[in-house]
Amino acid sequence: MIIVFKPSATEQDIDHVTDRLRELGLKSQISRGEERTILGVIGDERILENQPLTVFAGVESVTTILAPWKLVSREFQKWDSIIDVNGVAIGGKTLTIMAGPCAVEKLEITVGIAHEVKAAGGTVLRGGAYKPRTSPYSFQGLGREGLDYLVEAKRQTGLPVVSEILDPRDTDVFLEKADIIQIGARNMHNFELLKEVGAYDKPVLLKRGLSATIKELLLSAEYIISRGNRNVILCERGIRTFETQYRNTLDLSAVPTLKELSHLPVIVDPSHATGKWSLVAPMAKAAIAAGADGLLIEVHSNPECALCDGEESLKPHRFKELMSDLKLIAKAVGREL
Ligand code: PEP
Ligand code: MN
Repeated sequence: MIIVFKPSATEQDIDHVTDRLRELGLKSQISRGEERTILGVIGDERILENQPLTVFAGVESVTTILAPWKLVSREFQKWDSIIDVNGVAIGGKTLTIMAGPCAVEKLEITVGIAHEVKAAGGTVLRGGAYKPRTSPYSFQGLGREGLDYLVEAKRQTGLPVVSEILDPRDTDVFLEKADIIQIGARNMHNFELLKEVGAYDKPVLLKRGLSATIKELLLSAEYIISRGNRNVILCERGIRTFETQYRNTLDLSAVPTLKELSHLPVIVDPSHATGKWSLVAPMAKAAIAAGADGLLIEVHSNPECALCDGEESLKPHRFKELMSDLKLIAKAVGREL
C-alpha cells in the first residue's frame, strides 16, 4: 500500500500517520519527491481494511500496490533512484562503467589494471576477492588480502571499489573495505545474505540469478530495501537458456522492463552474459542503447594467464577502444560518459 500526502501536508501530519501504522504493527518507508511525499507500508495490510487512513489530515490518497514487490516499484517512486557511491552517481544521466579483473590476483596486477581502467574513463573498479567457483578445485580468491589490494588500488586511482560477498560473516570487512557490495548471481536467492546487506546503507550491486525471472530479481531487491537499505543497483548478467554457443544469453529486454517496473538503476554485465571477449563490446553497446545506466566489464592485462574468466576479459587497449565507441552511443541516447 502507498499513502500519498498532499503538497500542503506538514511533518506533523506525516508523523501522525507513521505513528498510527507503528501502533498497528506495520512498518513504513518514506519517499520525498519534489511535489509529493509518499509512504510505503510494509506488513500485513489486511490490518488496514477497517482503518480508513484517508481521514488523516494531509493524506491525499491511499492505493494498494498490485505488484508483489512494493518499495522497488515505480508505483512507490516515480523518479529514478540515483545511488551515490563516494561521489560517483549511479542512475543519473552519466553512465557508470565498472571494470577490472574477474578475480583479484597479485597486488601489482590489480593496481596496474586499476590504472588502465581509470585512464580509459572507467568510474568504478571491480575485482572478486572471494570467488564463487563451480569447482571446489578452482582458484577461490585471495579473501581479505584481495580486499586489501583493492583498497590500495583505490588509494592510487581514486576509483571506488565493488567486490562480491559470499558469507554474511564477512560483512564487517566489506563495510570497511568495499564501496559497493556485490551479491552475485549464485546468491540472488540467498535471502539471509540479502537481509544482512539490507541492514546497512552501503550500496549493493544485485546480480540476476542464473535462472531467475525478473519478478524474482525484483523480490530479491525488495528483501534488501525492506530492511532499510535503499541503495540497490540491479544487474542483468545473462540467463541460462538452451543455447550453448555462449556462456549465457544476455536478456536485453530485461533493461527496459526493469526500468518500467522499478526506479532502481540497472547495469549490464556483458562479460558473464557472453563468456567471450569478442562479444563483449557489441553487447556492451547494445546495452547502453537499450537504456542501461552502466556496465560491469572484466578487464585483464594478461587474459591468457588470468586465474579466472580470462576468455571473457578485455585487454586494456580493447577496453579503451570500447569506451570511446560508447561515448557516441551514449550521446545518441541522451546519456553522458
Ligand atoms: C562476478 O561478477 O564476478 C561473477 C561471479 O558474476 P556472476 O555472479 O554474474 O556469475
Ligand atoms: Mn568472472
